[in-house]
Amino acid sequence: MEMKTNRLEIATTISNDPSSYKLCAVCGSIVDKTVTNCPDCYAYRFDVDASHVADAALDYAVKPQQTVSHFDLMPEGSEAMEQDEEA
Ligand SMILES: [Zn+2]
Repeated sequence: MEMKTNRLEIATTISNDPSSYKLCAVCGSIVDKTVTNCPDCYAYRFDVDASHVADAALDYAVKPQQTVSHFDLMPEGSEAMEQDEEA
């Protein structure tokens, strides 16, 4: 296992372009705006306010990691997780 990307680098990327991301309303994960379900908790409600996303990105950079985020689990070309289709 290699460290993919530095957390600060991720946070900087997100805070420079917060409108491309959104926050999971349930677990607070920062996810790509194109996803329909949170990769961490499978919630489907999101906070799309760019200023909230930017704040969360900064928190992500400075706070110790308490949970595994989807950035750490990002599969490369594999769809290992099952998606429930109960919209
Ligand atoms: Zn979530």
